[in-house]
Amino acid sequence: MSAEAGGLEDLVDPARSAERPLSVAVLMLQPACNMACSFCVTEDGFDAIRFDQALDLLEELTARGVRSIVLGGGEPLVWPGDLLRLAGEAKSRGFCVQVGTNAIRLPHGFEELDCIDRWVLPLESADPEVHGRMRYRPAGHHALILRRLEALRRVGKSVTLSTVVTAVNAAGVEDLARFLEEYHAHAGNIHAWHLYRFLPLGRGGASNADSLAIPEREYLAACERVTERGLGFRVFRRADMYHSRTVEFFWSEGGVLRSGSEAWARADTGSAPESPR
Ligand code: SF4
Repeated sequence: MSAEAGGLEDLVDPARSAERPLSVAVLMLQPACNMACSFCVTEDGFDAIRFDQALDLLEELTARGVRSIVLGGGEPLVWPGDLLRLAGEAKSRGFCVQVGTNAIRLPHGFEELDCIDRWVLPLESADPEVHGRMRYRPAGHHALILRRLEALRRVGKSVTLSTVVTAVNAAGVEDLARFLEEYHAHAGNIHAWHLYRFLPLGRGGASNADSLAIPEREYLAACERVTERGLGFRVFRRADMYHSRTVEFFWSEGGVLRSGSEAWARADTGSAPESPR
């Protein structure tokens, strides 16, 4: 890829674009985060995307016919740029705008923001203690997510949930499915639930692999038990969050926008979409 500062020529791999249509673009706005998670696959080795770069990217994606974006990180709500303004710019161009966030620093009235179509929130367990063992700082995050879900329920705003399946929470995935099923029965606003397999990468995942990793068969079995329930919303199995036929990641490195999925996975910067958290 070209190293020309600020250039967009690296955004599109013509060969890959010809192979398959890109349907979702995930913008890794920056690596920083205001939370600490045991399984975090994010590294610190990439830059914050500049606001002007993000606008250029929206133009590029529009030209490619991409209609859906996820604004993620790290944590997008601590991005130095103006997230809500960027969301508004994307919305005005006709994108379906999703924000993948840990939900800690949401603005007052977040649930009614017209510039965001869907929030992507993390929930690791129906059990606050288990959730807290995986998302251990700040404390009380499980209760915060429940409050966020209640706010979204009140206004009928769409939400996607994401769960990283590890040795800590795998046994409770069915309980979580039951919890989400009951929530959705009266809220009706769950768009999807993503079940990610833990990857031993990044600032948390690499060092905590011994306590978090599970065999693939256990991950698949946990997903199977969930899908057998026939939940009233879509459940996605994401065995490798970095490899998707229709999702592409965009990040900044050395002042240059980069893109890819396989390339992102190979890079030392590797991070996970909190979305698709
Ligand atoms: S997993 Fe997400 S919320 Fe947790 S530390 Fe990493 S970027 Fe932050």
